[in-house]
Amino acid sequence: MSATPDLPPNVFRQAVEQAALAISITDAEANILYVNPAFERVTGYKQGEVLGNNQSMLSYKVTPGLVYESLWAQLARQRAWNGMLVNRRSDGNRYLADLTITPVVDAEGRTSHFLGMHRDVTEVHHLERQVQNQKAMIESVVDAAQVAICLLDERDHVVLDNQEYKKLIGDLGREPASILLTNLRQQMGAGFDTARKRRQAIRHREVKVEPTGGMNAQSARWFTCALSWFEEQDASADAFYEPTRRHYLLLTAQEITELKRQQEAIRINSLAALLTEQERIQSLRETLAGAVYQLEGPLNTLSAAVRLLERRRGKGEDAAERNECQREEAFDVAIETALRNSHAALDTLRACIPHRQSEAVQPLNLNEVLRDVLKMTTADLLGSGIVVEWYPAAELPPVHGGATQLAAMFRHLLANAIEAMNERRVGDHARERLVRLFTQFHADHVEVILEDTGPGIPVEWRYKVFEPFFTTKGAARGHLGMGLSMAQDTVSGHGGLIDVDPDYLDGCRVRVQFPLGNTRHRDESTAETHDGMPT
Ligand code: FAD
Repeated sequence: MSATPDLPPNVFRQAVEQAALAISITDAEANILYVNPAFERVTGYKQGEVLGNNQSMLSYKVTPGLVYESLWAQLARQRAWNGMLVNRRSDGNRYLADLTITPVVDAEGRTSHFLGMHRDVTEVHHLERQVQNQKAMIESVVDAAQVAICLLDERDHVVLDNQEYKKLIGDLGREPASILLTNLRQQMGAGFDTARKRRQAIRHREVKVEPTGGMNAQSARWFTCALSWFEEQDASADAFYEPTRRHYLLLTAQEITELKRQQEAIRINSLAALLTEQERIQSLRETLAGAVYQLEGPLNTLSAAVRLLERRRGKGEDAAERNECQREEAFDVAIETALRNSHAALDTLRACIPHRQSEAVQPLNLNEVLRDVLKMTTADLLGSGIVVEWYPAAELPPVHGGATQLAAMFRHLLANAIEAMNERRVGDHARERLVRLFTQFHADHVEVILEDTGPGIPVEWRYKVFEPFFTTKGAARGHLGMGLSMAQDTVSGHGGLIDVDPDYLDGCRVRVQFPLGNTRHRDESTAETHDGMPT
């Protein structure tokens, strides 16, 4: 290559002399023939100290031999080589040299010289290593975290995740971030999109992930999720002078399924305890009210008889008749006293009837009420070897009512079904012990159907079973016959209907219907004490 006519030859030398890069020219054996001032600054050696020496004088002897072998192999092919070498300065300190060696080929095609150019990149390397170390440290911390973490780009593609997150991919069989974000969006509605648009953090949201996969599906899992945003400067060359930002979404999800299970178990246990207590009080209330009702009949008859006697009294003329009258009067007094005492006793009995406990009326999803009832009854069902088939309607509008009242009623109906199936009859062993529970959504009402494969209820008792004190089992077995009567009371209190299907022949089918829209629910706090008795 020759200098262009416009460029004086000494410019080449001046350019090399004044270059900021450390430049050396060697012979073909790497013996130094020339170094520029930048070389002196970088290596600490003066020109006079290096000229005639081999370039190896800079070697700190820790660079692997393989690097030199590849360096020389490349140069032997008359190709430039670039790489990193660990060099030692004149003061003994080491530095990292980013070196490029270019062979200088003469007119005969032989390598006559080498041009070496290097710069000290120790600081850059130090910073790079620091960044790598920090990245590795952050990654190991993130990986060790017991929380699933993932980073999503603006198109919701996962760009970084940790071990817990990877485990979730295996467990859920789908991209966990997409499931959690979809569920969060469903849960938060428009609020989610607003928060996303404004890049607002979303903290501690509980998200339920329903299982997929049919029969072998596990139960639902729960996570607390948090979303936060951060932006990164675009590192591409295009954005060097015009910085652009990229936004990333950091999603963390901590599994709380076990905690939820425990909370659910506590809730179900408390609900069961509450129902049992309420049932006890209601049963006491209904029994006392029933007893009062039963006693009122004979007492009224007695009162009528006394009034009749009173009208006949005092009509005698002679002494014998007057004596007779006196005896009757004494008898009347005794009867009236007994009657008064009986009424007083009846009033005391009425006063003993516990008041109905008021319960807030709220919109209820009967699927959830029944699910709770099934959970409460699981042990009994399992203990009796009964299989439950549960067919909840996919969509069920809310019914307005008292949650514990309805739960208590359905629990009682289910207990009746279990008890019925536990009654062994000839040939029953061959029958499947099955309870089927349906919820159905009709145009103007919601219906709950409970079927069992027990002995069933004879058609002639279809209405009688709802009367108070009617029982097919007898008080000796602890049955007062108040259960279905109370169930009917609860259903009518909700404006609904309950009946036994006469056409069902495989056992018993109880149908309970609740009207929609104008659902009426009696205000329990204002109900009179006697309203427990069906009319
Ligand atoms: P050496 O005994 O010198 O050689 C190590 C390996 O290289 C052996 O396998 C040997 O066969 C091979 N080798 C050595 N010389 C030649 C050759 N002339 N032809 C073919 N193969 C050969 N080294 C540094 O450590 N730091 C530098 O800054 C540096 N700058 C250089 C700049 C230029 C322009 C050139 C040409 C070389 C430079 N070198 C540099 C390389 C240096 O010359 C030595 O090869 C290297 O330092 C290893 O030295 P050594 O004494 O440890 O091993």
